[in-house]
Amino acid sequence: MARRLLILGSTGSIGTQALDIVERSDDLVLVGLSAERSWESLVEQARAHGVERIAVADADAGARAAEAWTDGEVLTGPEGLVRLVIDSGAELVLNALVGSAGLGPTVAALGEGIDLALANKESLVVGGELVTQLAEATGAQIIPVDSEHSALHQLIAGERPGTIDELVLTASGGPFRGRNRSDLEGVTVEEALKHPTWAMGGKITIDSATLMNKGLELIEAHHLFGTPYERIGVVVHPQSIVHSYIKLCDGAALAHLGYPDMRVPISYALHYPERVDVPVRPLDLAAVGALTFEPVDTDAFPCLRLAREAAVAGGTAPCVLNAANEVAVHSFLDGRLDFLGIPAVIEAALDRLPAAPVRAFESLYEADREARAVASELVAVRT
Ligand code: NAD
Ligand code: MG
Repeated sequence: MARRLLILGSTGSIGTQALDIVERSDDLVLVGLSAERSWESLVEQARAHGVERIAVADADAGARAAEAWTDGEVLTGPEGLVRLVIDSGAELVLNALVGSAGLGPTVAALGEGIDLALANKESLVVGGELVTQLAEATGAQIIPVDSEHSALHQLIAGERPGTIDELVLTASGGPFRGRNRSDLEGVTVEEALKHPTWAMGGKITIDSATLMNKGLELIEAHHLFGTPYERIGVVVHPQSIVHSYIKLCDGAALAHLGYPDMRVPISYALHYPERVDVPVRPLDLAAVGALTFEPVDTDAFPCLRLAREAAVAGGTAPCVLNAANEVAVHSFLDGRLDFLGIPAVIEAALDRLPAAPVRAFESLYEADREARAVASELVAVRT
């Protein structure tokens, strides 16, 4: 029996690669697709895949989609996205939205007891405890799509509880690896968007250049695997061949390797616990030649330190960190903030909004709104 799959954010980098996996699979049937505003590509995808329901987050774009496409149902707005999750009879939801906008659909899927293939790391960063508690309560599984966490999911599966000493996330180091702080003054958007090993959406590519991506992944790993922060490390590995590794109590370490290609972790998450063929190059280590590793320079890339501090502070702090980062990254992409302004705005927002306890999702939505307002103000002051 094919599994009923819903893809949220199907027009994005992860979304389109997921469609490639679905096309090759007899085990998956698509029941819905969604996008923010690129309705033309979304309608084209719906036609090509015989999907009858789509959701468009932007109301105007949704209205245009409904005019152009009369073969199915078009839902709009954030409520439309949640309705798509709840009403489509999906057995698996791939959340490939970007940013904290992914939290609502994550909560909707897990609340219904629907398994979640999670690319949207921001929903775990923001909602951490509440999201994992919800999954536990309904019995829904969260299967990570992020390459490092997919690697860790596979590595951890074979180990008995209590035998893993440390999880180590690898980081490519981004386009500015090796530069010091003063070298980073005045770097351009174009330079920041040139990721050395992965082709991804704009927001995560900037997060990789600042190393905030690794900070978000640290928090993501903590919630996915229940590992305390002092037992999650980060090492820079420019070739992106080792996707992460674990250190065990007997001195052994196990690593997950492969060429960087997101279709591998996407396929793993969509087929778990099965494994199916993916048409990628088999790894040839002799051809790769050398794998190198180096420590993170947190002086040049303070975002990783800020994320670790917010993670340890807990409560609303990771939510504030994430919201301020989203505002800062979009401001940088729009030319309204310099590269070094990104960590500066985040640090100032965290100072202005100290960590408060989180009792319900509403306190997270409130902290997100407040942090966005504060971060926008801080950006305006700098320019
Ligand atoms: P992207 O920008 O390429 O695509 C995002 C998708 O979400 C698009 O379909 C867009 O229309 C939709 N979307 C954006 N904002 C929305 C909103 N407010 N409401 C509803 N829909 C919205 O992003 P991406 O690179 O595919 O990344 C998606 C997620 O996966 C991110 O959380 C990212 O950190 C994570 N991730 C991506 C990669 C990668 O290789 N691209 C790797 C690991 C993790
Ligand atoms: Mg990653």
